[in-house]
Amino acid sequence: MSMDGFRLDGKVALVTGAAQGIGRAISLALASAGASVVVSDLAAKSSAVDAVCSEIGAAGGTASACELDVTATSRLAAVFDGVVAANGQLDILVNNAGILVRKPTLEITEDDWDRVFDVNLRGLFFCAQAAAKHMVSRGEGRIINIASQRALSASVGNAPYIASKAAVAGLTRALALDWVASGITVNAIGPGPVDTPLLADASPELERDIELRSPVGRRLQPEEIASAVVYLASPAAAAVNGHLLLVDAGWTAA
Ligand code: NAD
Repeated sequence: MSMDGFRLDGKVALVTGAAQGIGRAISLALASAGASVVVSDLAAKSSAVDAVCSEIGAAGGTASACELDVTATSRLAAVFDGVVAANGQLDILVNNAGILVRKPTLEITEDDWDRVFDVNLRGLFFCAQAAAKHMVSRGEGRIINIASQRALSASVGNAPYIASKAAVAGLTRALALDWVASGITVNAIGPGPVDTPLLADASPELERDIELRSPVGRRLQPEEIASAVVYLASPAAAAVNGHLLLVDAGWTAA
Protein backbone atom coordinates (compact mmCIF):
# COMPACT_ATOMS: atom_id res chain seq x y z
CA MET A 1 0.00 0.00 0.00
CA SER A 2 1.28 3.46 -0.92
CA MET A 3 1.37 6.10 1.81
CA ASP A 4 0.43 8.74 -0.81
CA GLY A 5 -3.19 8.29 0.28
CA PHE A 6 -2.35 10.12 3.49
CA ARG A 7 -1.08 13.22 1.63
CA LEU A 8 -3.14 16.34 0.98
CA ASP A 9 -1.14 17.89 -1.86
CA GLY A 10 -3.29 20.15 -4.06
CA LYS A 11 -6.11 20.31 -1.48
CA VAL A 12 -7.48 23.53 0.00
CA ALA A 13 -8.53 23.43 3.66
CA LEU A 14 -10.28 26.00 5.84
CA VAL A 15 -9.97 25.75 9.64
CA THR A 16 -12.22 27.81 11.94
CA GLY A 17 -10.98 29.11 15.30
CA ALA A 18 -7.42 28.52 14.08
CA ALA A 19 -5.52 31.33 15.82
CA GLN A 20 -4.50 29.19 18.77
CA GLY A 21 -4.82 25.83 20.51
CA ILE A 22 -6.14 22.84 18.58
CA GLY A 23 -7.08 24.91 15.48
CA ARG A 24 -3.53 26.23 15.18
CA ALA A 25 -2.09 22.70 15.43
CA ILE A 26 -4.61 21.42 12.87
CA SER A 27 -3.62 24.21 10.44
CA LEU A 28 0.09 23.40 10.81
CA ALA A 29 -0.53 19.66 10.38
CA LEU A 30 -2.75 20.05 7.30
CA ALA A 31 -0.14 22.33 5.70
CA SER A 32 2.63 19.89 6.52
CA ALA A 33 0.60 17.15 4.78
CA GLY A 34 0.54 19.34 1.65
CA ALA A 35 -2.74 21.28 1.86
CA SER A 36 -3.03 24.99 1.25
CA VAL A 37 -4.63 26.21 4.48
CA VAL A 38 -7.02 29.09 5.07
CA VAL A 39 -6.41 30.00 8.72
CA SER A 40 -9.56 31.69 10.04
CA ASP A 41 -10.65 33.20 13.35
CA LEU A 42 -12.37 36.25 14.84
CA ALA A 43 -11.15 39.73 13.78
CA ALA A 44 -9.74 40.22 17.28
CA LYS A 45 -7.36 37.31 16.66
CA SER A 46 -5.92 38.63 13.37
CA SER A 47 -2.33 38.98 14.61
CA ALA A 48 -2.35 35.42 16.02
CA VAL A 49 -3.80 34.20 12.69
CA ASP A 50 -1.01 36.02 10.82
CA ALA A 51 1.53 34.35 13.11
CA VAL A 52 0.12 30.88 12.27
CA CYS A 53 0.31 31.73 8.54
CA SER A 54 3.93 32.87 8.93
CA GLU A 55 4.79 29.68 10.82
CA ILE A 56 3.30 27.60 7.99
CA GLY A 57 5.17 29.66 5.39
CA ALA A 58 8.46 29.32 7.28
CA ALA A 59 8.01 25.53 7.27
CA GLY A 60 7.58 25.57 3.48
CA GLY A 61 3.78 25.38 3.44
CA THR A 62 1.04 27.58 1.98
CA ALA A 63 -1.45 29.52 4.10
CA SER A 64 -3.68 32.57 3.97
CA ALA A 65 -5.51 34.46 6.69
CA CYS A 66 -9.28 34.86 6.83
CA GLU A 67 -11.54 36.75 9.22
CA LEU A 68 -14.44 34.44 10.07
CA ASP A 69 -16.89 34.67 12.97
CA VAL A 70 -18.91 31.46 12.72
CA THR A 71 -21.88 33.12 14.44
CA ALA A 72 -22.13 35.81 11.72
CA THR A 73 -24.26 33.49 9.63
CA SER A 74 -25.52 36.15 7.22
CA ARG A 75 -21.91 36.73 6.08
CA LEU A 76 -20.81 33.08 5.78
CA ALA A 77 -21.80 32.63 2.12
CA ALA A 78 -19.71 35.67 1.11
CA VAL A 79 -16.71 34.47 3.16
CA PHE A 80 -16.82 30.95 1.68
CA ASP A 81 -17.37 32.34 -1.84
CA GLY A 82 -14.31 34.55 -1.30
CA VAL A 83 -12.20 31.58 -0.14
CA VAL A 84 -13.20 29.59 -3.24
CA ALA A 85 -12.57 32.58 -5.53
CA ALA A 86 -9.11 33.11 -4.04
CA ASN A 87 -8.08 29.44 -3.97
CA GLY A 88 -10.04 27.95 -6.87
CA GLN A 89 -11.69 25.31 -4.67
CA LEU A 90 -12.44 24.19 -1.12
CA ASP A 91 -11.77 20.53 -0.34
CA ILE A 92 -11.65 20.38 3.46
CA LEU A 93 -13.51 22.24 6.21
CA VAL A 94 -12.47 21.77 9.82
CA ASN A 95 -15.17 23.12 12.14
CA ASN A 96 -12.94 23.71 15.14
CA ALA A 97 -14.20 26.98 16.71
CA GLY A 98 -15.75 26.28 20.08
CA ILE A 99 -16.38 27.95 23.42
CA LEU A 100 -17.02 26.78 26.96
CA VAL A 101 -19.05 28.40 29.74
CA ARG A 102 -17.99 26.82 33.01
CA LYS A 103 -20.68 27.52 35.62
CA PRO A 104 -22.85 25.67 38.13
CA THR A 105 -25.90 24.50 36.20
CA LEU A 106 -28.33 26.42 38.44
CA GLU A 107 -26.58 29.66 37.39
CA ILE A 108 -26.63 29.13 33.61
CA THR A 109 -28.49 32.00 31.92
CA GLU A 110 -30.28 32.01 28.58
CA ASP A 111 -27.44 34.13 27.26
CA ASP A 112 -24.83 31.55 28.38
CA TRP A 113 -26.82 28.78 26.70
CA ASP A 114 -27.28 30.75 23.46
CA ARG A 115 -23.63 31.81 23.25
CA VAL A 116 -22.40 28.22 23.54
CA PHE A 117 -24.93 26.85 21.04
CA ASP A 118 -24.41 29.76 18.61
CA VAL A 119 -20.72 28.92 18.24
CA ASN A 120 -20.54 25.17 18.91
CA LEU A 121 -23.64 24.04 17.00
CA ARG A 122 -25.41 26.75 14.97
CA GLY A 123 -22.19 28.27 13.61
CA LEU A 124 -20.77 24.83 12.90
CA PHE A 125 -23.88 23.80 10.95
CA PHE A 126 -23.99 26.93 8.79
CA CYS A 127 -20.24 26.74 8.05
CA ALA A 128 -20.73 23.11 7.00
CA GLN A 129 -23.66 24.13 4.79
CA ALA A 130 -21.73 27.02 3.19
CA ALA A 131 -18.77 24.71 2.48
CA ALA A 132 -20.95 21.86 1.22
CA LYS A 133 -22.61 24.13 -1.35
CA HIS A 134 -19.21 24.37 -3.05
CA MET A 135 -18.25 20.73 -2.43
CA VAL A 136 -21.50 19.34 -3.89
CA SER A 137 -20.84 21.01 -7.23
CA ARG A 138 -17.38 19.37 -7.38
CA GLY A 139 -18.61 15.97 -6.16
CA GLU A 140 -16.07 15.74 -3.33
CA GLY A 141 -15.24 17.19 0.05
CA ARG A 142 -14.29 16.51 3.64
CA ILE A 143 -15.91 18.09 6.69
CA ILE A 144 -14.41 17.40 10.10
CA ASN A 145 -16.18 18.64 13.22
CA ILE A 146 -14.26 19.00 16.46
CA ALA A 147 -16.65 17.67 19.11
CA SER A 148 -15.34 16.34 22.45
CA GLN A 149 -15.11 13.14 24.44
CA ARG A 150 -18.01 14.88 26.26
CA ALA A 151 -20.20 14.04 23.26
CA LEU A 152 -20.39 10.58 24.87
CA SER A 153 -19.87 11.24 28.58
CA ALA A 154 -20.49 14.00 31.12
CA SER A 155 -18.62 16.05 33.69
CA VAL A 156 -19.85 18.45 36.38
CA GLY A 157 -20.55 22.12 35.61
CA ASN A 158 -20.44 22.13 31.81
CA ALA A 159 -24.05 21.35 30.85
CA PRO A 160 -24.49 23.59 27.76
CA TYR A 161 -21.06 22.62 26.40
CA ILE A 162 -21.72 18.90 26.85
CA ALA A 163 -25.18 19.20 25.27
CA SER A 164 -23.71 21.12 22.31
CA LYS A 165 -20.98 18.55 21.72
CA ALA A 166 -23.43 15.61 21.90
CA ALA A 167 -25.50 17.50 19.32
CA VAL A 168 -22.42 17.89 17.10
CA ALA A 169 -22.02 14.09 17.08
CA GLY A 170 -25.66 13.67 16.02
CA LEU A 171 -25.41 16.43 13.42
CA THR A 172 -22.26 14.79 12.02
CA ARG A 173 -24.18 11.56 11.40
CA ALA A 174 -27.08 13.44 9.80
CA LEU A 175 -24.86 15.46 7.44
CA ALA A 176 -22.82 12.37 6.55
CA LEU A 177 -25.96 10.69 5.22
CA ASP A 178 -27.34 13.85 3.59
CA TRP A 179 -24.20 14.47 1.53
CA VAL A 180 -22.70 11.00 0.95
CA ALA A 181 -24.19 10.87 -2.57
CA SER A 182 -22.28 14.08 -3.38
CA GLY A 183 -18.91 12.57 -2.48
CA ILE A 184 -18.61 14.42 0.82
CA THR A 185 -17.68 12.72 4.08
CA VAL A 186 -18.56 14.27 7.43
CA ASN A 187 -16.82 13.03 10.56
CA ALA A 188 -16.19 14.25 14.09
CA ILE A 189 -13.31 14.03 16.51
CA GLY A 190 -13.79 13.71 20.27
CA PRO A 191 -10.69 14.99 22.05
CA GLY A 192 -10.05 14.40 25.74
CA PRO A 193 -8.64 17.34 27.74
CA VAL A 194 -6.03 19.14 25.62
CA ASP A 195 -3.43 21.64 26.74
CA THR A 196 -4.84 24.84 25.18
CA PRO A 197 -6.02 28.29 26.35
CA LEU A 198 -9.57 26.83 26.62
CA LEU A 199 -8.46 24.94 29.72
CA ALA A 200 -6.24 27.74 31.07
CA ASP A 201 -8.61 28.31 34.01
CA ALA A 202 -9.54 24.66 34.53
CA SER A 203 -10.95 23.83 37.95
CA PRO A 204 -8.96 21.81 40.51
CA GLU A 205 -11.66 19.12 40.00
CA LEU A 206 -10.75 18.80 36.30
CA GLU A 207 -7.03 18.64 37.10
CA ARG A 208 -7.76 15.88 39.67
CA ASP A 209 -9.99 14.10 37.13
CA ILE A 210 -7.21 14.17 34.52
CA GLU A 211 -4.72 12.81 37.02
CA LEU A 212 -7.00 10.02 38.28
CA ARG A 213 -9.22 9.11 35.33
CA SER A 214 -7.22 9.70 32.17
CA PRO A 215 -5.36 6.49 31.35
CA VAL A 216 -2.30 8.61 30.51
CA GLY A 217 -2.72 10.97 33.50
CA ARG A 218 -1.99 14.13 31.51
CA ARG A 219 -3.53 16.68 29.18
CA LEU A 220 -3.16 15.75 25.52
CA GLN A 221 -1.15 17.95 23.18
CA PRO A 222 -2.93 19.77 20.29
CA GLU A 223 -0.73 17.90 17.78
CA GLU A 224 -2.20 14.60 18.99
CA ILE A 225 -5.64 15.81 17.84
CA ALA A 226 -4.31 17.36 14.62
CA SER A 227 -2.90 14.08 13.30
CA ALA A 228 -6.36 12.49 13.52
CA VAL A 229 -7.77 15.40 11.50
CA VAL A 230 -5.16 14.88 8.78
CA TYR A 231 -6.18 11.22 8.55
CA LEU A 232 -9.92 12.01 8.23
CA ALA A 233 -9.14 14.69 5.62
CA SER A 234 -7.00 12.33 3.54
CA PRO A 235 -7.96 10.05 0.63
CA ALA A 236 -7.01 7.13 2.93
CA ALA A 237 -10.17 7.80 4.98
CA ALA A 238 -12.56 7.78 2.00
CA ALA A 239 -14.75 5.04 3.51
CA VAL A 240 -14.96 6.63 6.98
CA ASN A 241 -18.20 8.59 7.25
CA GLY A 242 -20.52 9.74 10.05
CA HIS A 243 -17.96 8.61 12.61
CA LEU A 244 -16.98 10.13 15.97
CA LEU A 245 -13.30 9.35 16.44
CA LEU A 246 -12.38 9.63 20.11
CA VAL A 247 -8.86 10.94 20.67
CA ASP A 248 -8.90 10.72 24.44
CA ALA A 249 -6.10 8.25 25.20
CA GLY A 250 -8.72 5.66 26.13
CA TRP A 251 -10.50 7.71 28.85
CA THR A 252 -14.01 6.91 27.53
CA ALA A 253 -13.11 3.23 27.14
CA ALA A 254 -12.49 2.90 30.88
P1 NAD B 1 -9.23 27.69 22.34
O1 NAD B 1 -10.10 28.50 23.23
O2 NAD B 1 -7.79 27.63 22.63
O3 NAD B 1 -9.41 28.15 20.81
C1 NAD B 1 -10.69 28.32 20.27
C2 NAD B 1 -10.60 29.30 19.12
O4 NAD B 1 -11.94 29.48 18.63
C3 NAD B 1 -10.08 30.69 19.55
O5 NAD B 1 -9.03 31.07 18.71
C4 NAD B 1 -11.30 31.58 19.40
O6 NAD B 1 -10.98 32.91 18.99
C5 NAD B 1 -12.10 30.85 18.33
N1 NAD B 1 -13.49 31.25 18.34
C6 NAD B 1 -14.29 31.45 19.42
N2 NAD B 1 -15.50 31.90 19.00
C7 NAD B 1 -15.44 31.96 17.65
C8 NAD B 1 -16.36 32.36 16.65
N3 NAD B 1 -17.59 32.83 16.96
N4 NAD B 1 -15.99 32.28 15.35
C9 NAD B 1 -14.74 31.86 15.02
N5 NAD B 1 -13.82 31.50 15.92
C10 NAD B 1 -14.17 31.55 17.22
O7 NAD B 1 -9.86 26.24 22.33
P2 NAD B 1 -9.26 24.82 21.93
O8 NAD B 1 -9.01 24.07 23.16
O9 NAD B 1 -8.22 24.95 20.92
O10 NAD B 1 -10.58 24.17 21.30
C11 NAD B 1 -10.79 23.97 19.92
C12 NAD B 1 -11.98 23.04 19.75
O11 NAD B 1 -11.68 21.80 20.40
C13 NAD B 1 -13.25 23.54 20.39
O12 NAD B 1 -14.36 23.19 19.58
C14 NAD B 1 -13.32 22.80 21.71
O13 NAD B 1 -14.62 22.66 22.20
C15 NAD B 1 -12.74 21.47 21.29
N6 NAD B 1 -12.22 20.67 22.40
C16 NAD B 1 -11.23 21.17 23.20
C17 NAD B 1 -10.77 20.39 24.25
C18 NAD B 1 -9.70 20.88 25.19
O14 NAD B 1 -9.48 20.23 26.21
N7 NAD B 1 -8.99 21.96 24.91
C19 NAD B 1 -11.30 19.11 24.47
C20 NAD B 1 -12.30 18.65 23.63
C21 NAD B 1 -12.76 19.44 22.58
